[in-house]
Amino acid sequence: MAENAIPHKPYDSSAFEGPSFRKKRDVPDGLWLRCPGCEKMLYRKAVAENSEVCPECQHHFRMSGKARISQLADPDTFEELFADIAPADPLEFKWLGQSYADRVRAEQAKTNNTDAVLTGIAFVKGRRLALGVMDGDFLMGSMGSVVGEKLSLLIEEAATQSLPLVIVCMSGGARMHEGALSLMQMAKTSAALAKFDDAGGLYIAILADPTTGGTTASFAMLGDVIIAEPGALIGFAGQRVIANTIRAELPEGFQRAEFLLEHGFIDMITPRKELRNEIARLIDYCGKQ
Ligand SMILES: [Zn+2]
Repeated sequence: MAENAIPHKPYDSSAFEGPSFRKKRDVPDGLWLRCPGCEKMLYRKAVAENSEVCPECQHHFRMSGKARISQLADPDTFEELFADIAPADPLEFKWLGQSYADRVRAEQAKTNNTDAVLTGIAFVKGRRLALGVMDGDFLMGSMGSVVGEKLSLLIEEAATQSLPLVIVCMSGGARMHEGALSLMQMAKTSAALAKFDDAGGLYIAILADPTTGGTTASFAMLGDVIIAEPGALIGFAGQRVIANTIRAELPEGFQRAEFLLEHGFIDMITPRKELRNEIARLIDYCGKQ
């Protein structure tokens, strides 16, 4: 026997108490998920039926654009507008060996959307409104030319039809694949909203997790009323960038909805399940002014 060989020991079950290293094959992939809020294992279907909110701790999970519309709008009332606008690749951008055009095709196949926003007319508790919903599943809800164009057209449509405007923001920021063209969408959407405001339109911005970068720096923060979902990350630059720039420790909860409410950046925090009531209440309230 070699000198370094590990001596054989009889099986001792008491040595295996504690965390199991065995792969949990009895839990099929995708049926359960762990909540980042309370760390409990949740039945995925139960979470979906609870508007993608943890039934235990009320952690708000991210939602796809389509799920968001089903949750927010009255059933079967969403009439999509500008659905045929799709991105071009004017810069012939390539990143990590993949062209932007290929990436867009993959994202379109994954989400069944042409880009990262859905726009249209819908009813919420019987109130007709113009609704824009960003889709975080499409290239992290990044704002490129299509998001800017569709939202600007939606804002104009809201003005033409004298409808309240609701935009659910969820975005990783400007889309780097379109370079400066993405950055121009900040000015474009802001200008459209300024005109809408001059015409007396009501704009309710709903900030979901995460709302960051160029989206925050434009239409997300221009609502007459700005509502955030609980715990949503809302900011312009990332925490690490800010901490390194100002060389200071950032306060706890910095860039979370609760911190922003405390410091006057947003108007209210509304749990997802209350959003429909809140939108209806605000529309009625502003209609009476
Ligand atoms: Zn939870």
